[in-house]
Amino acid sequence: MRDARDRRSADPGARARAPAVHAARRGAALLAIGEHDPALTLDAYLLRAVATAGWAPTFDSCARCGAPGPHRGFHLQAGGAVCRDCRPTGASAPAPDTLRLLSALLSGDWDYADASAAGNRREGAGLVAAFVQWHLERGVRSLRMVERL
Ligand SMILES: [Zn+2]
Repeated sequence: MRDARDRRSADPGARARAPAVHAARRGAALLAIGEHDPALTLDAYLLRAVATAGWAPTFDSCARCGAPGPHRGFHLQAGGAVCRDCRPTGASAPAPDTLRLLSALLSGDWDYADASAAGNRREGAGLVAAFVQWHLERGVRSLRMVERL
């Protein structure tokens, strides 16, 4: 398993960070003015925040091999959607529309997000919370390791 720092340096979306920062700011602004469902706006903000931090989840292509999706598997530690060949033990199988919703929230496709079903929103919120929590806890552990050196 790759270290968080390795993952950051190998992040193919590194060039996209500047737009992600802008998107995160826009997400916070949208939350303030109530343009969209606040729960969706919060999930969009959280996804963009972890992407800005270097842990961009993938919901379309496989997080491990990059095979184009859509894929049925989802694995936090792998970084998101996983193909059948890369799917580790313990991967979940969220509804395909839930993964499409999360992709829409990350990319700012609000037309899709606003039209999403309540069940996909609930499932997506659970995945976002787990993804963010896993990376934050991992980040804190990494920070402790740096402080000991
Ligand atoms: Zn794969």
